[in-house]
Amino acid sequence: MNQMQEEVLSRVAANNIRFLTLWFADVSGVLKGVSIDPGELEDAFTEGIGFDGSSIEGMTRIYESDMLLRPDASTFQMLPWDEEHRMARMFCDVLGPDGEPAYSDPRGVLERQIKRAEELGFTFRVHPEIEFYLLRAVTDLKSEPEPLDRAGYFDHVSGGMAHGFRRKVVSTLEDMGINVEFSHHEGGPGQNEIDLRAVDALSAADNMMTLRTVINELANQEGVVSTFMPKPFRDEPGSGMHLHLSLFEGEENAFYSPSGQYQLSLTGRRFMAGILRHAREIAAVTNQHVNSYKRLWGGGEAPSYVCWGHNNRSALVRVPLYKPGKSSSSRIEFRGMDSAANPYLALAVVLAAGLRGVTEKYELPDETEDDVWMLSDGERQAMGIEALPRSLSEAVHLMANSDLVADTLGEEVFEYFQRNKRAEWTEYRRQITAWEYEYFLNIT
Ligand code: GLU
Ligand code: MG
Ligand code: MG
Repeated sequence: MNQMQEEVLSRVAANNIRFLTLWFADVSGVLKGVSIDPGELEDAFTEGIGFDGSSIEGMTRIYESDMLLRPDASTFQMLPWDEEHRMARMFCDVLGPDGEPAYSDPRGVLERQIKRAEELGFTFRVHPEIEFYLLRAVTDLKSEPEPLDRAGYFDHVSGGMAHGFRRKVVSTLEDMGINVEFSHHEGGPGQNEIDLRAVDALSAADNMMTLRTVINELANQEGVVSTFMPKPFRDEPGSGMHLHLSLFEGEENAFYSPSGQYQLSLTGRRFMAGILRHAREIAAVTNQHVNSYKRLWGGGEAPSYVCWGHNNRSALVRVPLYKPGKSSSSRIEFRGMDSAANPYLALAVVLAAGLRGVTEKYELPDETEDDVWMLSDGERQAMGIEALPRSLSEAVHLMANSDLVADTLGEEVFEYFQRNKRAEWTEYRRQITAWEYEYFLNIT
């Protein structure tokens, strides 16, 4: 065992931990966990804990189902929402029966891409803004849910529940070593947002998984429902997960240049050009559900077109205001991803797209100052502005032809992901909706 693993062992003893939960994600980004007795921990570190991979979405082919979980000691945290049971968690890497990293582990997919960035001399830093809705108890899944409040953007609702809820989420996250930068009510009724501070990409993805879990656990305790569904209401904004991105070279922000437009360096411009050029083919990963495309095409400040701008919230990528004297704050904001994505896979494809822009020295197209939603199709075409996919089906089709996504996900995840998403699309297409009955039943 290494020193960090030894330290976890002593913290487990010192805090009298009774249950250690080993966390990992399936290919859809659903959190999985197994609790072990602390007595098993040393074995978990040295040999791994066995599990049946064939029962986990996308993990293995049935004939090679014995997999291993090896906890990542650096992610050890107590679970503060359940102190009574003295629980702690660690994220795990998934290994094949031979002890080698499993190609089907989403966390491993991101780790491989981070390594590529490191080989090029870069650390990828990410700070996510996570939007979600709080709803009253859901009793009927067939109709629109009821939001917890009627408030809007930045509203402070005195005596309202959302404020207290966010405060609880923020303290719980801080107790778990996750720093929160902002939290506020978002535009939709019952919609909230929590913004985390920038960290390295692997920690950022782990933090997104933790945040979704904390919010669900606390909502459950409060008797309300939280949802990260991309577009739960027809007439209200969807829930995006905007990503603020930068590459660091050692201590230096490689996206900062005092002389660059908006203080963005050539590396930053190329990275952004990479994301723009590949945005359509990575959309199936950053926006993985049928419902994701209702957000992208449903207004509410979600991006529908591939372009960039400075203070342009209709653009897919935005260069936020540079804070004078703060070179570490130079970054770009990717506004495409939604809150229901698998953060490991999504960060991996976003990083791969950006890095391709850097290594292939992509030229950044001109910025778009107009509100792209207000332009006509002809105007957009003349400006070379393409549309994001309009459906999961189109997105999967674009992904299937993408060598970038295939290389990044690796053959197993690439194949499984497409099969899974095609099945989702087929199932969706079979549905006859309430809207269709309303419009077509009485046609004579
Ligand atoms: N909710 C919007 C979206 O779906 C974003 C609103 C904002 O700019 O924060 O992306
Ligand atoms: Mg927001
Ligand atoms: Mg934002």
